[in-house]
Parts: sequence; structure tokens; C-alpha cells
Amino acid sequence: MQNRNEHPRTNEVVDAAVVGGGPAGLNVALMLARSRRSVVVVDAGAPRNAPAAAAHGLFARDGVAPGELLATGREEVRRYGGRVVDGEVVEVRRDDDLFTLTLAGGRMLRARRLLVTTGLIDRLPDVEGLAARWGRDVVHCPYCHGWEVRDRRIAVLASGPASPHHALLFRQLSDTVAYFTNGRHLAEEQRTQFAARGIRIIDGDVAAAVVEDDALAGLRFADGRVEACDAVAVATRLEARASFLRPLGLDVVEHPSGAGTQLAADSFGRTAVPGVWAAGNVTDLMAQVGASAAAGASAGAQINADLVQEETAAAVAALAEA
Ligand SMILES: Cc1cc2nc3c(=O)[nH]c(=O)nc-3n(C[C@H](O)[C@H](O)[C@H](O)COP(=O)(O)OP(=O)(O)OC[C@H]3O[C@@H](n4cnc5c(N)ncnc54)[C@H](O)[C@@H]3O)c2cc1C
Repeated sequence: MQNRNEHPRTNEVVDAAVVGGGPAGLNVALMLARSRRSVVVVDAGAPRNAPAAAAHGLFARDGVAPGELLATGREEVRRYGGRVVDGEVVEVRRDDDLFTLTLAGGRMLRARRLLVTTGLIDRLPDVEGLAARWGRDVVHCPYCHGWEVRDRRIAVLASGPASPHHALLFRQLSDTVAYFTNGRHLAEEQRTQFAARGIRIIDGDVAAAVVEDDALAGLRFADGRVEACDAVAVATRLEARASFLRPLGLDVVEHPSGAGTQLAADSFGRTAVPGVWAAGNVTDLMAQVGASAAAGASAGAQINADLVQEETAAAVAALAEA
């Protein structure tokens, strides 16, 4: 629920603006608010795992609904005076020492430091009906959904360089795994591995997902053939959300694995532009909820330390002048 009182006020300057209120952004804000920093999180409300009913593999909260986790996170930030507003940042510029964020609708926010935790977009292959099942019986991550599809007939749909490895991971969860090449080359070594692990290889161009009674029933090929399956595992192309940073001279780069794009940052979360930090999926494509939150906590501590250093240097300079 939007709380209008939390919107940025005219000419207000905060210590840190956080763009994105997923696990990474909320943990940054928690660390900063607890350090008595003024912090505003601007969140467009479309976390990556929203289509899934539960978040798994998360220490002490396994199976929690993603929305419930974020609602708790927002309350924790607010408990310490941090603010979370609903909105989308469409542009960021630097004016002297401050960043000016423009939100859709024209509101502005100025901040001493900028933290980017906008996550990524999963691009599915162009197969009819796949997107409607995403996060339910069309899945990508053996650690997020693998247990839930264990012992089922799993169709691994080839989509990129990670797909053969993906098939081997899903084979750990079910004896009935088939690899749909969908027009992609499969190296001889991988064919041998699949034969050894009992993974069927099925050639042909996949055209559509077949759905019956609100459940996936199979994949249909362009020639009309249908192969039955209970779940599709597909490695999506992962595209970091960061286009609003271009006015700062920051843009995404291709990930070396070919899995997608990311916003480059060092192990502390610092990007190439001083004062701009990144955490979570936007800079670490493989991070799950726990890793994203942990990276956010670490970046929050780094930003606070950076501000402390700046303030100490200013205090020393002021003392020298006195
Ligand atoms: C279907 C699915 C199921 C998953 N299941 C699991 C699971 O079971 N366990 C697990 O550990 N991980 C799971 N994941 C991975 C998990 O979603 C990510 O690890 C996690 O969401 C990353 O957190 P984040 O904070 O980096 O990004 P996100 O959670 O994606 O949050 C980013 C936030 O930034 C906002 N945003 C983006 N651009 C802007 C902008 N310009 N202005 C303002 N706000 C903006 C978005 O709306 C969003 O709310 C799953 C992923 C998918 C796709």
C-alpha cells in the first residue's frame, strides 16, 4: 500500500536513495536506517520472483511467500525511520555532489549516495504459452523449484550455453528428464553425458506449451507432434534493469558466461561511478534471495563507512580552519 507521506519532499536531500525494494534494496535500507542515515527506497513493485508462490532455499524462511517476505522487510526498514515509496525511477543525474533522481510522474529526490538494486528481467524463449506458466510449472532454477518438480517428467528446453549443464542439474531431481534441443547444437561430449545419465534427447522446433486443466501437459513441436511433460526447465536470458543510469555514463555489460547482462560492480558493490553502488541480481545474475539480501547488507555497511569517511574529512578540515 502506498503511503503518500513517505514521498520525497521538495528540495529534500537524503543520505542515500535506493532504487529497487527487493531483498537487496530493503537490506541496504535496513543497514543504513539502523546507522541513523536518512534513506528512501523507491520501488516499482515488480520483484523477479513475484510469479512464484513461495521462496525456497532460504535459511529460516524456506517456503515463505515472496510478497510476505518483502512486506516484512518494508516494515523493518520503517521501524528505524527508513522510507519506502512506490514509484519508478526513470532517470538519474549528478549535480555537483548530489544525485538527482526523477520518478515517473515527475517527482524528484536528491541523495548523497545512490544504490541500485533493480534486479533483472528473465527473457523466455519465444514459445507460445510459456510465459503464462512462468514460476509455476515453467521454471529455471533447480534450487528454487527443483524439489517441487522432483520425480516428475521434466523437459529441459535448450535456450543458451547454460542449458546442457541445466539438464544435468535437473537430472539430480528426477529420473525422467528429456532435453529438447529446439534447433540448438549439442556437442558430442554432452550427448555422451546425457546418454550416460539417461537423459533423452529430443530434436525439433518447439512451438507451444500444451496446458490442460491449468497444468502443463506437454510441449508441441512446429510439425504438430506433442511430447508429454509435467514441467519445463529453461535457462532464461537475464537482463539487468539499469537503463535509467545512462545519463551518469553507466550501462550494463554482457556477462562473460553469455547468460545475459549485468551492471558491473566490485566485491563491495562499488560501480565505476563514484557514489553509485549496486547489489543483488542487477550486478550478480546468479544471486538468490539470501545472496541478494546479503549483498545489500554489505553494500549498506560500505555506504555508511564511505559517508563516515567523507564527514570525518570535512570535520577535520573545518577544525583546521577554525
Ligand atoms: C520465478 C522465480 C522464482 C524464484 N524463486 C526463488 C526461490 O525460491 N528462492 C530464491 O532464493 N530465489 C528465487 N528466485 C530468485 C529471486 O527472485 C532473486 O534472487 C531476487 O528477487 C533478487 O533480489 P533483488 O533485490 O536483487 O531484485 P528483485 O527482487 O527483482 O527486486 C528488484 C526491485 O526493483 C524494482 N525496480 C526495478 N527497476 C526500478 C526502477 N527503475 N525504479 C524503481 N524500482 C525499480 C522492481 O520492481 C523490484 O521490486 C526466483 C526467481 C524467479 C524468476
